[in-house]
Amino acid sequence: MHEFDLIRQYLQFATVPRQDVMLSIGDDCALLQVPPGQQLAVSMDTLVADRHFISTVDPQSLGHKALAVNLSDLAAMGATPAWVTLSLSLPAANTVWQQWLANFMRGFSTLAHSHHVQLVGGDTTCGPLSMTVQVHGFVAPGQALRRDAAKPGDLIYVSGTLGDAGLALQAQQGQTILSPAEQKRLAQRLDRPLPQVALGQAINHLAHAAIDLSDGLGGDLGHICQASGVGAVIQAAQLPLSALVKQYIQTTADWRLPITAGDDYELAFTVPPDRQAQVQQAAEQVGVPITCIGQITAGHTTQIVLPDGTTQDLQGGYQHF
Ligand code: ADP
Ligand code: MG
Repeated sequence: MHEFDLIRQYLQFATVPRQDVMLSIGDDCALLQVPPGQQLAVSMDTLVADRHFISTVDPQSLGHKALAVNLSDLAAMGATPAWVTLSLSLPAANTVWQQWLANFMRGFSTLAHSHHVQLVGGDTTCGPLSMTVQVHGFVAPGQALRRDAAKPGDLIYVSGTLGDAGLALQAQQGQTILSPAEQKRLAQRLDRPLPQVALGQAINHLAHAAIDLSDGLGGDLGHICQASGVGAVIQAAQLPLSALVKQYIQTTADWRLPITAGDDYELAFTVPPDRQAQVQQAAEQVGVPITCIGQITAGHTTQIVLPDGTTQDLQGGYQHF
């Protein structure tokens, strides 16, 4: 198939012209200008049909999510998004797949527009349905929020609420019964996650370490602790929960949802205690609720204190809650 001809029809949705793009789609390479004195932050994620998503998923949501998960990685570094490239493998170039691509690009581009990100190139091939997105952003030297920068005594914060995407998934799989209205509201959290880009930028000079919550708080906080050579204690009673997740925990006594369920794409970050007021203010300025859920310790274990006072190991013990 003439891949570029196929793609070109849909790029009209995707172009947000930026001054730092000297040459975009159409040549052998894009030519891009990194602002003087800034570092380039780069991240890539691949989504494969029937592994990362079911192939019958709404393509517009998939287009949104394919970009959102990448922007979330930039957010977790405190970087400012700028450019994106997109590699697509489509089963066929027929009208069915052209329509699919148009819808995919609609979701992708709406999110790209809202973050002032320009699609500057990519590749299109025929094959099993999959997509690889690479994002490029800027961050001042020394200001990136790395996983290995947490210090004992740091306060641990998370943005938004935890467990909503996990509950949406359970509802979709019929494991939890919600009203149709509730299910629809919650499905947004799973299908259209909003990367916390503004928050990452707002706290990048205040926080020590950060990570985005793609695989669940327990595991992702574990990555920070392992990289930083520290431990952590979090308080279950302080976890920010939506009304629906709260209700779920009250009826099931199952704390796994906010701790092990992934796909929330909130940020977890650590802050030295003397910057608590500053970080709260920075989050307020970008309109994102943040909650202190615990503290980094000098040990090597990550633990959670449940509301009944018992302590569980976050790295495995949580399966048995
Ligand atoms: P080449 O053979 O030089 O790689 P292609 O036909 O693959 O050229 O691509 C032509 C142009 O279209 C390039 O600028 C490329 O970046 C762009 N392009 C191809 N596929 C995509 C895509 N899925 N998204 C964005 N740009 C694309
Ligand atoms: Mg190519």
